[in-house]
Formats: sequence, structure tokens, C-alpha cells
Amino acid sequence: ATPTAMVAGTGAAAKAGILIKDIEAMERAASIDTVLFDKTGTLTEGHPVLSDTVDLSGVDTSDHLRLATALQRGSDHPLAKAFRSAFEAADGDAASLPSPRNFTNRPGEGVAGEVDGVSVALGNRALLSRLGVALDTNAAQKMEELGETVVYLVRDGKPAAVFGFRDAPRPMAVAALARLKERGLATGMVSGDSQAAADRVGRDLGMDLVLAGVRPDRKAKTVAARQQDGARVAMVGDGINDAPALVQADLGIAMGTGSDVALDAAPVTLMRSDLMLVPAVLDICRKTVSKIR
Ligand code: ADP
Ligand code: MG
Repeated sequence: ATPTAMVAGTGAAAKAGILIKDIEAMERAASIDTVLFDKTGTLTEGHPVLSDTVDLSGVDTSDHLRLATALQRGSDHPLAKAFRSAFEAADGDAASLPSPRNFTNRPGEGVAGEVDGVSVALGNRALLSRLGVALDTNAAQKMEELGETVVYLVRDGKPAAVFGFRDAPRPMAVAALARLKERGLATGMVSGDSQAAADRVGRDLGMDLVLAGVRPDRKAKTVAARQQDGARVAMVGDGINDAPALVQADLGIAMGTGSDVALDAAPVTLMRSDLMLVPAVLDICRKTVSKIR
């Protein structure tokens, strides 16, 4: 009866839009007690939109967005795309912008380079500290309290602007988390975003635990730390950066819209970007395993 139940279980999952690639994953899924989610692109749509700009320079307010968008030509981060969209929405032509020189990308922090002979950097507070740029403003605080991702623009070593981006939560995020709680599972969010922004998003969604400021290369360690505390962890993610955490988790679950690297790393793939499929995976696996025993 064992293999038959397993095959039936993967069949029921496939019908619901869940691809289970590894039969043993079903057993592990049945004992999960904690579900961790990546924020951007997993709990949210992953399409940040510029919604706020505050000038800090007091002089040249006009071309902050142009310089920022030119610098982001070197990046394919969702925020880089968001800068391009905002620049084009303001009637700019992103394709005709100069390419940055001496471009560097610091994962989890931001980007730097030279545009039109001006040294520019874009990123979070960790990037500012790395560059030794002192910031004497709380312009970002309100944005973060609204759950916005804040990006600072530094021009010639001085803070010049603060950009706030909104990324809408996926429609079923609240319902999916409520369902997981009904099942007695603990929920958590792992994000590279600031604590204040991540806290707001986590609170709106009803998340038990919010782990913010987690650099891409630390996501797997964050999962391992929960496991060392005795938790049996499912990790849900979509990005290249999430792949090691998806492997480290007792059950890795990749969003089907995510990167191929994430899909390869996880034994479970959600074929629709419907977060209700997360509790559905656990339900199907629990049922299947209880039939076997
Ligand atoms: P997340 O975990 O939310 O997907 P990342 O780890 O990719 O985020 O990035 C964390 C933070 O680093 C971002 O919120 C942003 O502040 C900054 N950052 C990373 N890449 C860029 C970029 N290309 N431009 C501006 N800021 C960036
Ligand atoms: Mg993501």
C-alpha cells in the first residue's frame, strides 16, 4: 500500500498545481512545524514601484532619478527594473542613458559606479556604512513604517536622495498564513529589507516571526539556526538567492514563477503563484503519510 499511497499523493498534489519531485519529501513535509517565507517575489508580487522620493541635497533635485536609472543599467535586480519603469513613466528614455563605469554590485546592499563622471551609489544603510557615508535624516523612517523598501542615492560621497518602493503583497498571502496557523504551524519571513519595512509587511500579513536585514548568503544559515533550535522547517522562495536556503530546509518549496536555480533546488514546485498551495502541500503530504502508517 505504501507506494500506491505515495503515487496517489503526488497525483493529488499535481492536480492541485503542486509538483512533488521527490517522494521522500512527502514524509518530511508531514512533520514540518515551521514555515519560513522569502519576502520579495514570494509573499509580494516582486514588482516594486517607486512611490516616494525625498531630496536630501537641497540643490539638484531634477536628475536624481536619471543618475540612479543609469547606474542600475548594470543590475538586473527587481529594484533596477523599478528605477527604469519610474524613469520611463516620467518620459525618460532609459535606453539612451549612459552605461555606468567601474560598476560594482554588492548583493544585499546595492550598487555603485560612475555616471557622467559623477560617483554614484544606490542601496541600503549597510551600503552607506560600507562607503562611510553619514546620514543625518529620518526621511526614510516614514517610508519604512509604510512597509516601503528604501534606497539611498549617494552622489560624490554625499547622501542626495531617498527613494521608497512599494511591492504589493500577493492576494492570498493573508489567507495562506491564517490557514497555516490553523494547522498549528509557526510562520516566519526572511528578508534582506530593513527591519522596519519587513516588520510592517510581516505584521500586515500576520507573520509570527520577522527576520530582516538577512544578506543573501545568510539565508541558509537562518534556516539552519531554526533547525538547531529543534524546528522542522519548510522554506518558500523564488530567487537565485533563496536556493541554498531551499536546500537547507527540511522541505524546500519554490514558486513556479521563480528562477530556474530556485526550481532546481527545491523538491516541491508550486505551478501557480497561489500561496494557498503552501498549506495545500502540507495537507496532502500529511494525509498521504497517515494512510501509510
Ligand atoms: P530581498 O531579500 O528583499 O529580496 P535583496 O537581498 O536582494 O532583497 O536586497 C536587500 C536590500 O539591498 C534591498 O532592499 C535594497 O535596499 C538593497 N539592494 C540590493 N540590490 C540593490 C540594487 N540593485 N539597487 C538598490 N538597492 C539594492
Ligand atoms: Mg524573492
